Amino acid sequence: MKKYERIRRKLLSKREETEGRLNKIDQDILHTNGAPSPDSGEQAIERENDDVLEALGGIARSELEQINTALVRIEQNEYGICTVCKNPISAERLEAIPYTDHCIDCAE
Ligand SMILES: [Zn+2]
Repeated sequence: MKKYERIRRKLLSKREETEGRLNKIDQDILHTNGAPSPDSGEQAIERENDDVLEALGGIARSELEQINTALVRIEQNEYGICTVCKNPISAERLEAIPYTDHCIDCAE
């Protein structure tokens, strides 16, 4: 359990950061939706921005999900094991992508 304490902290701060990012994206979406521009060209740009924001929101949300899953896996002592082949995931890989649950072979 203590073995991954450092990574756990890293995941927690990453989660905070991702949540903050997600809140900001949600606010931006609300903001652009709340004030439609009278200019139709502007509106098209705003709609495009909304699409981008929603895509970013989707990425942040799935990242958040992966982070939460990783934290649960640490609690349950399953962290660091590939969910596909059950081999240990390399420390370098966990360092680079702490919320991954696939080893490098299965990720490809
Ligand atoms: Zn694997």
